[in-house]
Amino acid sequence: MTKLTCFGGVSQIGGNKFLIESNGTRILMDFGMNFAEEGKFFDEYMGPRTCNSLADMVELGMLPKIEGLYRRDYAKHMGFGGNEDTSVDAVLLTHAHIDHCGYVNFLRPEIPVYCSDASHAILQSFDDTGTDQYLTFKENFQVYENRNGEMSRARSDKTARPRNVIPVSGGDSFSIDSIEVLPIPIDHSIPGMFGYILHTPDATIANTGDLRLHGRRPDETEGFIEQCSKSSLDLLMCEGTRINKDPSYTELDVEQMSSEIISKTENLVVCSYPIRDLDRFMSIYNATKASNRVLAIDTKQAYLLKLFNDNPALHGMYPSPDDSSLRIFIHRGSWGLLDKDLDHFTQRQLLMDYKEWEKPFLDYHNAIDYRDVRKQQRETVLYCSDFKLQQLIDIKPDAGASYIRSSTEPFDIEMRLKSELIKNWLEHFGLISNDRSWHQIHVSGHGDREQIAKVVAGSNAKKVFPIHTEHPEMFQGISENAVTITENKTYEVSK
Ligand SMILES: [Zn+2]
Repeated sequence: MTKLTCFGGVSQIGGNKFLIESNGTRILMDFGMNFAEEGKFFDEYMGPRTCNSLADMVELGMLPKIEGLYRRDYAKHMGFGGNEDTSVDAVLLTHAHIDHCGYVNFLRPEIPVYCSDASHAILQSFDDTGTDQYLTFKENFQVYENRNGEMSRARSDKTARPRNVIPVSGGDSFSIDSIEVLPIPIDHSIPGMFGYILHTPDATIANTGDLRLHGRRPDETEGFIEQCSKSSLDLLMCEGTRINKDPSYTELDVEQMSSEIISKTENLVVCSYPIRDLDRFMSIYNATKASNRVLAIDTKQAYLLKLFNDNPALHGMYPSPDDSSLRIFIHRGSWGLLDKDLDHFTQRQLLMDYKEWEKPFLDYHNAIDYRDVRKQQRETVLYCSDFKLQQLIDIKPDAGASYIRSSTEPFDIEMRLKSELIKNWLEHFGLISNDRSWHQIHVSGHGDREQIAKVVAGSNAKKVFPIHTEHPEMFQGISENAVTITENKTYEVSK
């Protein structure tokens, strides 16, 4: 018998955590954070307690209560067992968006986590350039005896070891006990998205993850639909983030519209987009090139492009950081020694302004800083993160500059406040006029109603479970096989 339990990602967008059980084998698909649940109880200055995070989050329904799933250091310290056998055989990650992978660091490090090479590279960039840990595991709450024979508390970073994260190739099936798993590439707003088809001894189940048909790689999504139709699906778990939306622009329209704005702009173009959405990066990159300008990216994006190009499985998919149409913008570090007299300070002191992972970029032939951008405003499109808008103080854009915002529209009160703050900066530097409107050029990573209907019809599945949607009932309008499901309830799936 095959059983499915959804511990999140049902009548909500994100927080996907789906458990498949068959003949004693247990596989989790995704282990994501749910932004809405977290926002209900926590905010920036009030989160789960370090000493009790696992139990705090189980109490509030953010994590499921499953024995043998969580890291032993947390489980033991937080009254959650920890000595029992590991109870989950594998995690299949669809992609590296936080609402699908955000809670992986709570899992036992020996549980194999399967993902694409691209997802692996993105997780690596999170680990290396931020504070998250996906590929490594640092044991907490360990004690040791110090030189004076006293018991002391070990620092967790002394005990880092790798997690069992296994990159696999799209189209190559593999087995976890008696379950055969087929990962299939799908187009979404981040590279490396996998849909999965699972053949258990008594059922065939597909999970779309997040998908769209209006990106740069619609053939991948078409290929997934085709594979589903050939697989006699007993169940399709289908995302419906935008099932209530009509068709709109495509990713190629984003490139075209950006290109028009860049070519009409007299001086500097500043833009903002999600840096891990490398297909969006390509839209801005192509638009920049078409206008005979160069695109100045930040060191985080340069590092991600480097990880992709250093990986033989991903090399050449996207430009390398030393590409002739790219510049790497070196920000001023904590002492800001970039423009200071290095007869007084030393090169070594300058390097101390930067993290290990970004130091190599200072020597790149295409590294630039604010002085170069100030001099070459007509020739440059500058990527500027919302959190680095202070750089505009150094650049001082001339009149005739413009701003392209290529990310999602604000959708709640907090984000609205934040966009007001961003607009204050942009207005101050003349990047938007006093009517405070900016060039919003964005398409979603998720398919609209017509696309979802195409996926559902094309898959030929006997049953459809809506996931990752606030409108599960709308699936009934596109398929008579759609069943609205309940979180935390176990369903039997059979032929
Ligand atoms: Zn996603």
